[in-house]
Amino acid sequence: MPQTRSLESARRVFDDVVALRRKLHRHPEVGNHLPVSRKIILDALFGLEIEIVEHETTSGVVGILRGGQPGPTVVLRADFDALHLHEDTGLEFASEYEGQMHACGHDLHTAMLFGAARLLSEEASNLAGNVLFMFQPGEEGHHGARFMLDEGLLDTIEPRPTRAFAIHVSTLYRTGTVNIRSGPMMAAADKVVIVVKGRGGHASAPHNAADPVSVAAEIVMAVQMAMTRQGNVFDPAVVTFGMLQAGSAYNIIPETATLTGTTRTMSADRRKHVHEMIRQVANGVAAAHGVAAETEVILGYPVTINDREVTDATLQVAAELLGQDRVHELSAPSMGAEDWSYVLEEVPGVMAFLGACPDHLEPGNSPANHSNRVVFDEAALNDGVALHVAMVHRLLADAATD
Ligand SMILES: [Zn+2]
Ligand SMILES: [Zn+2]
Repeated sequence: MPQTRSLESARRVFDDVVALRRKLHRHPEVGNHLPVSRKIILDALFGLEIEIVEHETTSGVVGILRGGQPGPTVVLRADFDALHLHEDTGLEFASEYEGQMHACGHDLHTAMLFGAARLLSEEASNLAGNVLFMFQPGEEGHHGARFMLDEGLLDTIEPRPTRAFAIHVSTLYRTGTVNIRSGPMMAAADKVVIVVKGRGGHASAPHNAADPVSVAAEIVMAVQMAMTRQGNVFDPAVVTFGMLQAGSAYNIIPETATLTGTTRTMSADRRKHVHEMIRQVANGVAAAHGVAAETEVILGYPVTINDREVTDATLQVAAELLGQDRVHELSAPSMGAEDWSYVLEEVPGVMAFLGACPDHLEPGNSPANHSNRVVFDEAALNDGVALHVAMVHRLLADAATD
């Protein structure tokens, strides 16, 4: 099928895709158990020639589309969880659940994947291969994709998927542009907690106590110093301590001081190195002042790494579909993180950013993903549906020659 035909087909389902997006937007749920959203998705898929598997450990939903002819399997993914946030967009379909909002565009992802499922199911008899539709909860820090993998996502169908494709909408880019790079696309994001254990006492007599606050302050500085002296500048990383908690009064030296921060890295090696370095610096600085430091690293998502071949395929398909001027190869990754990374560790594939910044706003200068005022341009839905469909055709053909 010529790629432009995907765009025409997408227009045919546009109204239903928008309606689904708005319904999800009005009912945002947070975490791994999203009963209302799951019901909305199941209702939307009902009646399509798609076999449904409802996951048990989470609200995940898997759709299986078997093509009319044998062939490989491609997995497409949309997440459908929201964030704890008070929506302040003024949209007529704004959140009906106080303190919860679809502020990362996951409602758009799910609507686009539904649109693609509908179009692909209509032409299933002509497909040489299968499509696994992954609707996942818990992307926003709840490891939803990991739970779905552990529940056997990739074994849902024979043959197992050998190509993977996902879209994330973003207001950092103009509507209908596709932005992607091969290699690291998004960071590994981990949490670090350092507890400095001193000895409390009177603020006027520090020699009779062991002050954890000044040691914690020194650890913050020493870690930033070590980042520039010990880390390879060509393998980027960021450490930020966003919290320093200590004390109950201005004239008391507290027992402990706690630093909490995040590390962002672009490779497994640097990730390990940064964590070891923080531990070493915290222990060393604490020891120099006669106190102890305990460092705990809470692992978040691994690095999201785009496969080179699938990236090239995406660049080509998007250019044919939308025009070369709407396709951009990114020079740098994003320091955000994605649990789609878990799937990409097992199946060669990509995440592509689809621009959704409304025309009257300036990309990068308007409310962004995770803002309580972010507004995504629904015109992008059409491009997203068409891109999913076109990528299935391309990836099934590519995978067939493996
Ligand atoms: Zn997000
Ligand atoms: Zn997101």
